[in-house]
Amino acid sequence: MDKNCLFCRISRGASSTDFLFENEMLVVFKDINPAAPVHLLIVPKKHIRSINDLSDDDRPILSEMLMVARDMAAQYEVAKSGYRLFFNVERGGGQVIFHLHLHLIGGWNKR
Ligand code: 5GP
Ligand code: ZN
Repeated sequence: MDKNCLFCRISRGASSTDFLFENEMLVVFKDINPAAPVHLLIVPKKHIRSINDLSDDDRPILSEMLMVARDMAAQYEVAKSGYRLFFNVERGGGQVIFHLHLHLIGGWNKR
């Protein structure tokens, strides 16, 4: 837990952000500035700066993030039409919040 980290605060429930899903490892909420009709963020509760900072012990977190992303895609009805999952890594990769998060975007063409 990093006191100055926005996603630490959000994932601890210390903000008004609604969770679409929560378990012991992670939370899912809507991106405040959506880049697509569906734009969700899958965010571990543990403070990890970026993909670069993952340790071997974090393997279960990563796999849970992907499995929950799969489930959220189905729930938000973009699984069949298709979606993108991505991590921005460090400033040059477009990362602005330095707490690991997986973007799920889709819903452009729900056919
Ligand atoms: P990054 O560029 O670091 O991969 O993505 C950070 C994302 O977090 C951005 O898409 C941004 O819109 C989103 N974001 C930033 N602050 C907040 C916030 O306070 N609440 C929510 N729900 N999303 C946020
Ligand atoms: Zn954090």
